Amino acid sequence: MKALYPGSFDPLTLGHLDLIERSARLFDGLVVAVLQNPSKNPTFPVERRLDQIRTATAHLPQVEVASFDGLTVAFAQTCGAGVILRGLRAMSDFEFELQIAHTNKSLAPDLETLFMATATAHSFLSSSVVKEVARFGGPVGHMVPQGVAQDLAAFFNRESPEQR
Ligand code: ADP
Repeated sequence: MKALYPGSFDPLTLGHLDLIERSARLFDGLVVAVLQNPSKNPTFPVERRLDQIRTATAHLPQVEVASFDGLTVAFAQTCGAGVILRGLRAMSDFEFELQIAHTNKSLAPDLETLFMATATAHSFLSSSVVKEVARFGGPVGHMVPQGVAQDLAAFFNRESPEQR
């Protein structure tokens, strides 16, 4: 069975990457897909986010990286995925994620949504928290893959503290 892990990944964090590594062991194939969401104003362009994910998952041969727009269920069907994978960090994620899962079920009854619990060590991580720390020059090496830390430093025009 193939799974689709959709998200904004703006940028990829170690929380996302941990979920990718653990779920890649459970499925025959995993498509990590960046949603091009017109209602969000992204920090990193889609191509940059795809590069970040490709670099960080280069050691995982069963992982494909793609982008999509439109309905997640339609893209899951295009990829041949039977499962949509999402991560849960806290109760605060649950309500929104459940609503989306029910919506997707109503649109595509054959598709299942599976939730994977975050690794405890990464439960505080979100793309926005990482950007907030990087904006003020704080260290993010324990939050994101190395390439993303460099991209954040370049974006916020600072030398990465890990490189000093
Ligand atoms: P979206 O805008 O679709 O929520 P995100 O990139 O913020 O995109 O998140 C994609 C998925 O990854 C979501 O299911 C989210 O709950 C999950 N996720 C985000 N951060 C973490 C983390 N630290 N640990 C586990 N899952 C996470």
